[in-house]
Amino acid sequence: MQSMDYGLTEEQKNLARMAREFAERYIKPVRAELDRESRYPREIIQKMGEQGFFELFVPPEYGGQGLSVLNVCLVMEHLSIVDGGTAISYGVTGLGAIPLILFGNEDQKRRYLPPLARGEYQAAFALTEPWAGSDASNIKTTAVKKGDRYILNGQKKFITNGGEAQFYIVIAATQPDRGVRGLSAFIVEKDFPGFRVGRAEDKMGIRASVQREIFFDDVEVPEENLLGREGQGFKVAMMTLDRSRPIVGAQALGIAQGAFEEAVKYAKQREQFGSPIISFQAIQFMLADMAIQIEAARALVYSVAQFIDSGAKNISKAAAMAKTFASDVAMRVTTDAVQVFGGYGYMREFPVEKYMRDAKITQIYEGTNQIQRLVIARALMREF
Ligand SMILES: Cc1cc2nc3c(=O)[nH]c(=O)nc-3n(C[C@H](O)[C@H](O)[C@H](O)COP(=O)(O)OP(=O)(O)OC[C@H]3O[C@@H](n4cnc5c(N)ncnc54)[C@H](O)[C@@H]3O)c2cc1C
Repeated sequence: MQSMDYGLTEEQKNLARMAREFAERYIKPVRAELDRESRYPREIIQKMGEQGFFELFVPPEYGGQGLSVLNVCLVMEHLSIVDGGTAISYGVTGLGAIPLILFGNEDQKRRYLPPLARGEYQAAFALTEPWAGSDASNIKTTAVKKGDRYILNGQKKFITNGGEAQFYIVIAATQPDRGVRGLSAFIVEKDFPGFRVGRAEDKMGIRASVQREIFFDDVEVPEENLLGREGQGFKVAMMTLDRSRPIVGAQALGIAQGAFEEAVKYAKQREQFGSPIISFQAIQFMLADMAIQIEAARALVYSVAQFIDSGAKNISKAAAMAKTFASDVAMRVTTDAVQVFGGYGYMREFPVEKYMRDAKITQIYEGTNQIQRLVIARALMREF
């Protein structure tokens, strides 16, 4: 589909093209297998590291190309056109890099960002617990100061890149009686004694990514691994999610675009009643509505990313809008793509049922769309 220009620079257009070409060449041939076997694509992630994809998460002083949310969105979109699962296996390392960039001191940035830019370190972000999903104030993982260390005890749930990442941004309670004001953020390395991961989750979609529980049994975290100040953990988490929600929007956008492209191709080939099904107005209107929604989602995701990159301060509402709109579009568009394929759309042999399964998570993670609507509504209440 010919997309509009959106004022992208030549460099940004090249970046998008490069991500799509990479996905077509290295991911497409194995995506069905990764999905079937629910396998983390270690070799593809390694190749992405060699080709400099992780430099996009890191400022130039630490060996990267500078974090631009729009650039990361372009890459996420174009990888997700082929496979949203592999895309998030890549993107989640960005979710671990953002809090370091925002709150890390010089020493922390020097230790963790250069190997991340080179693709040697993967990262993860660990907020959710079995009893604390939407409600972060109920976090029960504790961090107790003892001399020059913090002792972490507790568990995290559904952590993407769990077991694959070398370090984890962990939100834990330093003052459990103070709710979200008693939370702090820590950089926890996989090799710290007492750090343990559970089995990989068996999921509906994005099966080329891995989610695991993480357990902390008296994990000793040196005080220099406190990220920001004590009590800033909730702020670290929210400011990180504000920057990464449009990136989930871009993942959703790519998934919708991928399903749409398959639907158009199929509608031109499939004949019923002696004509290609694309000649039926019912199919044409479905395709037209899909195209409208995708273009609207793209316009919103790109402009919110640009808004964030401009250094704007109040970005929570816009970020929540981009994620909500694009993920709702992805769910509708992928469902319609299955409809265009008829019975074949329901079969594993064809790619559209996977797009529909992959789309669903974008309405759930990094805050469900109900929580996004709360964020938007609260901002509206303040504004009027
Ligand atoms: C595949 C996958 C990957 C993930 N990756 C990560 C990760 O890397 N790191 C991480 O920290 N977490 C991760 N998560 C966790 C994810 O962010 C949470 O699942 C999500 O925030 C929702 O929390 P919950 O599942 O506990 O649902 P709940 O909070 O129990 O919500 C259940 C339902 O109630 C609704 N609800 C809850 N509270 C309200 C309210 N106040 N108003 C209206 N509706 C409400 C929700 O919208 C939802 O529909 C991942 C989850 C999945 C499934």
